[in-house]
Amino acid sequence: MTNKIRILDDNTINKIAAGEVVERPSSIVKELIENSIDADSTSITIEIKEGGKSYIRVTDNGNGINPEDIQLAFLRHSTSKISNPEDLSRVLSLGFRGEALASISAVSMVELITKTEDNNIGKSVEIHGGVLKEELDVGAPKGTTIIVKNIFYNTPVRRKFLKSEGAESANIGDIINKLAMCNPNISFKYIKDGKNIIKTPGNGDIKSTIYSIYGKEYTKSLIKVSYVNDKFRIWGYISEPSLTRGNRSNELFFINKRYVSSLILSKAVEDAYSSLITINRFPIVFLYIDIDPEDVDVNVHPSKIEVRFENEMIVVDKIKSMIKKRLLGENLVPQVQLTK
Ligand code: ADP
Ligand code: MG
Repeated sequence: MTNKIRILDDNTINKIAAGEVVERPSSIVKELIENSIDADSTSITIEIKEGGKSYIRVTDNGNGINPEDIQLAFLRHSTSKISNPEDLSRVLSLGFRGEALASISAVSMVELITKTEDNNIGKSVEIHGGVLKEELDVGAPKGTTIIVKNIFYNTPVRRKFLKSEGAESANIGDIINKLAMCNPNISFKYIKDGKNIIKTPGNGDIKSTIYSIYGKEYTKSLIKVSYVNDKFRIWGYISEPSLTRGNRSNELFFINKRYVSSLILSKAVEDAYSSLITINRFPIVFLYIDIDPEDVDVNVHPSKIEVRFENEMIVVDKIKSMIKKRLLGENLVPQVQLTK
């Protein structure tokens, strides 16, 4: 006897898809913050407990969700951000697949409170394991709060594979830092187990944002760099060769305000420093690359960290020469004394 083929119901599909989007607490934090950024927020508060396993809260002061759209927001492939295939080539918002809220709410207990400018009263709803519990009128400021509790409570196997609280917290901290660095116009506040961890100024200034996240030592050693042509712009801060790290984790690249991890870009930077720092030490760089969105493909992987872009080799070349020139210009390189 052959087994019968059947089409899965939405709840099961969402639970499966959740595996891709919601790998761990930090991926939920990332999706929620990105939604807040896409909603034009200027202030975002992230609170977590126990590495995000028991509690994640993201509160923003953005546009909010219209009462009639609330249920839609939790459906798969429902998004307010794109409407046709052409939109894909010029997508500027961070999310656009319409998968995050559907996936998150399929594997956890979600509470949403939201209010738009045009509504006098806010709405609060609870969704447990993809099932909408209740919808209430509540007093709320403009913006959205999403609380995610008990991740993977209904998929015990996944829950078992979560890393330690410390490891999950470290990941969440890392994601918040990167998103804050991409969005200096937004004030980020991060509270972990009741303790205030960071608060960025949200004043648009990269240097004071770096200060609020990475502290004084980094900020003191930073050198400003910039390069521009008619195709792209590269700018940001790099460290003096005297301040290095034992790994690459402080080589940060942002393409069109999106954090990307790129070995090619890292190698370009390290090449430029190669004669100035010892082997197995790595510089600190915060480099921003602004390029025509049509020349970048962000549609590579659901986590959207990898991107492909046109002119990659030219960008690499320019990064190298820009940094080399700047480091030489700073007189940071031991100079050979020429005598007659
Ligand atoms: P996507 O971000 O890919 O559109 P999501 O599942 O993350 O998909 O969100 C679905 C929709 O819910 C979004 O398109 C947006 O309209 C709405 N939404 C989600 N979070 C927020 C928020 N913090 N503020 C305003 N709208 C939001
Ligand atoms: Mg989203």
